[in-house]
Parts: sequence; structure tokens; C-alpha cells
Amino acid sequence: STFDSLGLIEPLRQALAELDYRRPTAIQTQGIPAILDDQDLVAEAQTGTGKTAAFALPLLQKLATTETDVELRLPRALILVPTRELALQVCQSLEAYGRYLTLVPVALFGGSRIDNQIRRLERGADILVATPGRLLDLLQQRVTELTQLELLVLDEADRMLDLGFIADMRRIREQLPEKCQTLLFSATLSAAVEKLVPDFLHRPHWVRV
Ligand code: AMP
Repeated sequence: STFDSLGLIEPLRQALAELDYRRPTAIQTQGIPAILDDQDLVAEAQTGTGKTAAFALPLLQKLATTETDVELRLPRALILVPTRELALQVCQSLEAYGRYLTLVPVALFGGSRIDNQIRRLERGADILVATPGRLLDLLQQRVTELTQLELLVLDEADRMLDLGFIADMRRIREQLPEKCQTLLFSATLSAAVEKLVPDFLHRPHWVRV
């Protein structure tokens, strides 16, 4: 299969050509059409399988092609990640794939000055890539809110559980709108991860690579 046959828009295909991505990986072939079709998704995929592009490409496409209230300038997508390193990496991937779009991603993580992150949020962010604890701090300070969220991604869900983020994840979930497409990515689908599924996702499509 090709990126054209997956239904990606031209600005994304142009960016992929420049990055020399020639063919979609298995997780991309299986995941991208389901995500574009508004389905929730559970994906068992390890680092190196192309999992980041599997959620980042359709996420960017959906935000770029659907209407929003521009006046509000509130985040429309949230990617929860276990670590600072992954937050920065996912944010860089969004910038690379979205170079011909105007969507703004912001990375939010602990162990780093909060005032810089606040300033970025105040300038307007379409996509948050965040570790759970720091995001809750910022929500408590009312620097941002999740009322306009259309998409939630739980990336490396198994590592988030290992690092003890489950309570934070549930507190974040309480602040989401009722209808929010949710994608869960995990290297392994342990019993603990599977237990998250009914609480965070609605009739998900399952993909294993
Ligand atoms: P990930 O599994 O998301 O950590 O991605 C692993 C690596 O594969 C990253 O360096 C990506 O830039 C690269 N990559 C992802 N998808 C493709 C693709 N379809 N073609 C070539 N490289 C890719």
C-alpha cells in the first residue's frame, strides 16, 4: 500500500515525500484508515514500528480538515506520554509531518520551568503533547482547558501505568468532553492496559503488529 491509498491530504503527502517515507508501515496501513473514519483504536505496537506517524498523520489531517471555533484557540488534541523525552520527540514529529499545515503543537512536561510552557499555551496551542502530572498542574492553574478536545492519544500506555500515572490519567479523563475520539498505543497489552480500554475507549478497532 501507499500513503496515497490511505487517503492522506496533499500537504501531509508532500511532507512525507520530503522525509523520504516511501511506504506506510503495517501499523500505519492498519491504523490510519480507522482513525480517519472516526473510530477509537487500540494498537499493540512497539517503538520502531512507525507508531508515532500512525496516530500523528490522521490526527493532523482531522484537525486541518474540520471546522473549529478559531476565536476560542483552545487545544483540540491531547497526546499523553510517559516521559519528557517522548513528549519532545512526538512534538518534533508533529512539526515535521505538519510543516505545510498551520497547527501548533506544544510539549508540556515536568522537571522544566512551567512559566515558559504557560507562555506557549497563552500564545495558542492546537495540540498538547504532555506528561500527566504537568498537564494537571496547568489545568489546575487554569492556563488551559480540555473542553474543546476532539482527539485523545494515550501513547506508551503500558509505560504510563508502570510509572504510576493511572490516577492522573483518570483525573484528566474527567475533564474531557463526552465525545472525544481516543487512541491507545502500547508496546504490550497487559491485563492492566486492557483494563483501561473500557474506561477510555468506545467500541475500539484493535490492531496488533
Ligand atoms: P516510531 O515507531 O514512531 O518510534 O518510528 C520509528 C522510526 O521510523 C522514526 O525514525 C520514524 O521517522 C521512522 N518512520 C516511521 N514511519 C516511516 C515510514 N513509513 N517510512 C520510513 N520511515 C518511517
